[in-house]
Amino acid sequence: MVLLTDRFGRRLNYIRISVTDRCNLRCLYCMPAEGIEWIPHDRILSYEEIRFLAEILKSLGVEKVRFTGGEPLVRKGFIKFLESLKKSVQDMRIVLTTNGTLLAHFIDELSVSGISGVNVSLDTLDENLFRTITRVGELKDVKEGIRLLAQRTEIPIKINTVLMKGVNDGEIGSLLEFAQENRAVLRLIEFMPLDDSVWKEDLFIAASEIFERLPEPEMWEQTDNSADHSAGPARYYRNLSTGQRLGIIEAVTHHFCSNCNRLRVSATGVIRPCLFSEGGIDLKPALRSGDREEVVSRIFKAVERKPESYRGVQRGATHMSRIGG
Ligand code: SAM
Ligand code: SF4
Repeated sequence: MVLLTDRFGRRLNYIRISVTDRCNLRCLYCMPAEGIEWIPHDRILSYEEIRFLAEILKSLGVEKVRFTGGEPLVRKGFIKFLESLKKSVQDMRIVLTTNGTLLAHFIDELSVSGISGVNVSLDTLDENLFRTITRVGELKDVKEGIRLLAQRTEIPIKINTVLMKGVNDGEIGSLLEFAQENRAVLRLIEFMPLDDSVWKEDLFIAASEIFERLPEPEMWEQTDNSADHSAGPARYYRNLSTGQRLGIIEAVTHHFCSNCNRLRVSATGVIRPCLFSEGGIDLKPALRSGDREEVVSRIFKAVERKPESYRGVQRGATHMSRIGG
């Protein structure tokens, strides 16, 4: 098997695929209030094209695929697709990132889908603040989705929280409690300056400061996650008294590039070697014509372009929903 390895010897075995650019929320750090212009359906990869791509990636040694968006659960038939995909790429780990608002509707399907994990984004447990951050969402939907996922399935759960100074940084204690009650691992994420119209320096909290704001920081010891190659920029901690786990994602301050193992594919089939690289390679024509060799050749071209590192996060008007966060 030819494995995907880049010019710097990094093995690329983790892919993030966006299944839609559409979303039912308008999180202020991700999308403008009026939303973005949706990409027409015929420019989005079909499920069959995504399956073809996943099978090719598996043959190149990719072990884990994360589906993201936009909001994956707004795409019709998505969980059924996951279930059938799992049957065709059996030993690949399939995981999902969702805003959780629609989870409750899909619990039974999810429980038999064979997926290995669900990451739910949840920035606050305060109803009003939730509406301010997401502009249109209802906190109770997300809480209920997480609760049902915890009770009715055995799927591992992570809760991802983008921490913003003066906005939700006072909630770490209650989010830890909520995560514990729902057998979820809380992960606190540094706010990335992707969109200049919303990112403000005074909202940013660096990972070291996030750690200092934990309730009883002295009770958390760092755990060794060197064996977990998918950990990326996450550092994990364990609470010495309760055993609870917690992650802090140093998306901005930690240069994890030296062991980056990931590639991204947008909803339109453009493969990007790095979250911060501008140039991607369009896989769609080759996927659409069923030309396996050409898909492989384009994937390798993208891998060749993977930079050794990015020089700090570029600030700009990039929306995660478009890139596939
Ligand atoms: N809609 C799904 C969700 O919200 O989980 C999946 C897509 S969303 C773009 C993926 C993740 O990107 C979310 O956890 C969101 O919080 C995160 N995100 C978006 N913009 C971000 C930013 N500027 N800094 C850090 N994380 C961001
Ligand atoms: Fe939608 Fe996720 Fe972006 Fe929020 S972060 S607007 S839920 S894609």
